[in-house]
Amino acid sequence: MKLDVNALRYLSKEDFRVLTAVELGMRNHEIVPAELVDRIARLKHGGTYKLLKNLLKHKLVHHDSSKYDGFRLTYLGYDFLAIKALLNRGVFSAVGRQIGVGKESDIFEVLAEDGTILVMKLHRLGRVSFRAVKSKRDYLCHRSSYNWLYLSRLAALKEYAFMKALGEHGFPVPTAIDCSRHCVVMSLVQGYPLVQVKQLQNPDDVFETVIGLIVRLAEHGLIHCDFNEFNIMIDDNEKVTMIDFPQMVSVSHRNAKMYFDRDNECVFKFFRKRYNLSYEEEREQDEGSASVAGEERDKLRFSSIEKSAGFLDKQLAASGFTRKNEDDIQKYIEGEKEGSDDEYDEDDDDNEASDSESVGVQISSLKMADEPEESSSCNDVGVKEEPLVPGNEE
Ligand code: ADP
Ligand code: MG
Repeated sequence: MKLDVNALRYLSKEDFRVLTAVELGMRNHEIVPAELVDRIARLKHGGTYKLLKNLLKHKLVHHDSSKYDGFRLTYLGYDFLAIKALLNRGVFSAVGRQIGVGKESDIFEVLAEDGTILVMKLHRLGRVSFRAVKSKRDYLCHRSSYNWLYLSRLAALKEYAFMKALGEHGFPVPTAIDCSRHCVVMSLVQGYPLVQVKQLQNPDDVFETVIGLIVRLAEHGLIHCDFNEFNIMIDDNEKVTMIDFPQMVSVSHRNAKMYFDRDNECVFKFFRKRYNLSYEEEREQDEGSASVAGEERDKLRFSSIEKSAGFLDKQLAASGFTRKNEDDIQKYIEGEKEGSDDEYDEDDDDNEASDSESVGVQISSLKMADEPEESSSCNDVGVKEEPLVPGNEE
């Protein structure tokens, strides 16, 4: 999806007030009736309807009259709210080029006020719409608080919380700078994802560092769950940085051992294939009886690791990421994995969150808004009422 931040320049304070009112209305309405938007916005001189029309023109809200007449945010509208909150907080002053696009995220460079280039990751859960949606929809329908905006916000909050906690424990991760809604701002990692690096000077060292990270994570009670050549960045000095944390789990998770093994296996496979390296563990696996000993040893190692579970709860709660949040997002991620063999389609370019709009859900726990308050943000910095600094042309 193209993120055109130019419209930010033309939106007035009142426009944002109305956009925020739609966001607030979505706490307990799938579609927010215009009258309710008007009541929440409480504009001194009225004009909500006209402003809604303007937001509609810029595709920041979507008009829906299928069940009853009303409006809801589009992903673009949600982007604008997050970007404006971060601009107002002075986290960055301009949005630059897109540097990454994942299945469920868009990554942009942003410019901090001191000239530093940072990275903004916008989570877009549910962007990919599966053709075999029926089971998926049923799955989502039965969970009352599910909504793509809510889930994307959780993904961002979780990513921010993990990045911060991991950074504080000396792990090589980007510096977590701030987050708002579905948007995380972090430092720019120099270098490239391992998958793009044609040659390494010291593949053995990099391999050991990477495997060492998996083990160290587990010693802290955590499993990355998507530890592969796409989420490991390498700089010119072959320094490793890991990224992408929304799917991490605690070692107390019921499938922890499987996830732990899978992360290890991904790394082994990659290095075996690309760098032709062979490792002791691999040989043991091949030698039948020895593999039993290997498994036993792994089990032992893992059970000692399991004792360190608890990091998750304590450290993450500090960032406002709760156990309920974790349960909600984990249900989604695990549901996704089950459906990941389905064929999928990119959404149309209406910036819509897949077919989620037709899922009859309410977002009871969605906490949002600049006005009167910022979303249940990880970093409770008050939002200043300053004129908007526009993003640049990109
Ligand atoms: P996804 O969840 O969509 O996989 P990632 O966090 O893995 O998103 O980011 C996707 C891509 O964006 C990465 O492979 C990397 O190329 C780039 N990227 C993400 N974060 C950073 C960062 N902090 N610095 C530099 N590049 C990044
Ligand atoms: Mg990734």
